[in-house]
Amino acid sequence: MDNFDNLHYAPHTKPGKQRQNSKFLLKLIRSHVTSVITSRRDDPDMHTLSSHWLLRISAVRWCLALAEDKYPTRSRCISLLHRDLPGEEMANSDRADTAIAFVYRGTFVHSTQQKALQILKDALLGVDTQGKIAFIEEGKELEKLSQTFGFKTSDITQLAQHEFFMPGLVDTHIHASQYSYAGTALDMPLLQWLNAYTFPVESRFKDLEFARKVYTQIVRRTLRNGTTTACYFATIHTEASLLLGQIANNFGQRALVGKVCMDRNDCVKHYKETLQDSQDETCRFIKELLNKKYPLVKPVVTPRFAPSCTGALLEQLGEIAKNNNLHIQSHISETLEEVKLVKELFPESESYADVYYKHNLLTDKTVMAHGCHLSDEELALFRETGASLSHCPNSNFSLCSGVLNVRNVLKHKVKLGLGTDVAGGYSASMLDAVRRALDASKVLTIQDPKYKTLSFEEVFRIATLGGSQALSLDDQTGNFEVGKDFDALRINVAAEGGPIDLIQDEEPKILLEKFLNLGDDRNIAEVFVAGRKVVPITE
Ligand SMILES: [Zn+2]
Repeated sequence: MDNFDNLHYAPHTKPGKQRQNSKFLLKLIRSHVTSVITSRRDDPDMHTLSSHWLLRISAVRWCLALAEDKYPTRSRCISLLHRDLPGEEMANSDRADTAIAFVYRGTFVHSTQQKALQILKDALLGVDTQGKIAFIEEGKELEKLSQTFGFKTSDITQLAQHEFFMPGLVDTHIHASQYSYAGTALDMPLLQWLNAYTFPVESRFKDLEFARKVYTQIVRRTLRNGTTTACYFATIHTEASLLLGQIANNFGQRALVGKVCMDRNDCVKHYKETLQDSQDETCRFIKELLNKKYPLVKPVVTPRFAPSCTGALLEQLGEIAKNNNLHIQSHISETLEEVKLVKELFPESESYADVYYKHNLLTDKTVMAHGCHLSDEELALFRETGASLSHCPNSNFSLCSGVLNVRNVLKHKVKLGLGTDVAGGYSASMLDAVRRALDASKVLTIQDPKYKTLSFEEVFRIATLGGSQALSLDDQTGNFEVGKDFDALRINVAAEGGPIDLIQDEEPKILLEKFLNLGDDRNIAEVFVAGRKVVPITE
């Protein structure tokens, strides 16, 4: 059994957040001491007095822990508080904030910064009414937890032996609009493929009914397949892009939605914008989407890729992202032909990455798809700026684009997630992306036997925690850390009529490996996003 305390450490926490967490802890200490002093004034009996001293001792211990931890996460602060407060104070302090909505007991698997795969057997996980993980503890702590959080033990749902919970899958790169032709049109390299298939199809999204049909299908399909967070490209059409945001919100998916920007397209001339339109419509899209106040759906600034944009447009988009502190997504170094084209179009730039860098489009909220042909210098630039990559192996194979050297990306400490890249990638399922990522790694090992193939545990981490880091959403989702939103899949490996035959009882690690390699949506019994059950889908 792993040490549950490991859950609460996050050494990758950013400096700004570290300060926030330290302040948060001090605020908690202050408010608890104040509340005890107040109650002592009203009822100065010995019990409260002793509680008061207990609290003071606890406060000292928290401060010591703070110094020792240096930079505790918010959830670590809560955990320290829970550990040190006597049950009664605990019940009086955080009860109102942490009313428990539901509790599951069974096996939980997830990744942490330290471990690609952490298995928690017979764990208890409670989700509060805000959809956040209130606790994850060993089963033997049941009595203490039920007292502290005020839930009845009869309210607990017990998982079966062949079931487990894992974090929701994070698709860091998917073109919602291209879902209409997924599974076809895989017979050309990228630049020809865009002209022959993509641009003509995307131009149809000015028709809102067509858009509604495709966007409803893709959100349903990805949710059913366990994608709790998706980073979407829509098309150049503002209304249809807003509609995608609305549909994702209605179904309860966490999503970044991008209205595509492109003011350069010599081949399909009717599918492009003027510089002014692109800029104006991007601002309108951002404003209107933010005004909807969807809790889980946010806009992302989306230049299609450098060859589709003039320098002036890239400049504007960099400004817009900076002024509104927004996410950015685009493509980079997918094929060699494209890299050559970018060199011709932007002769003043040192590299492809430099084109984006010069226009303020490489930030710690940027995710770039592919990067198969990036140099080490460009990867260093990603590391320096905090920009991330989305690995889309199905697409890279299907369009014969290249094979990303994931080990080299990780060696450069660049944040990395997985993407389906529908419809360059023909499958909208992140399980397919996991398998193709393993295949891509094996191709590199075939070419060079010294290349260390990725393990399924490593790819599992990239598909979950890695994706949340790549999208800078890891303070909200990605694993089962206390304080994060409960984004989770309930997996039933032995689902009736499903694709997996279990011959005997298996350990959780084997169950996870079988699910990742053989499973499909029939094994995904329930999907939760921010504590809301979104699968099975109810109309
Ligand atoms: Zn793409």
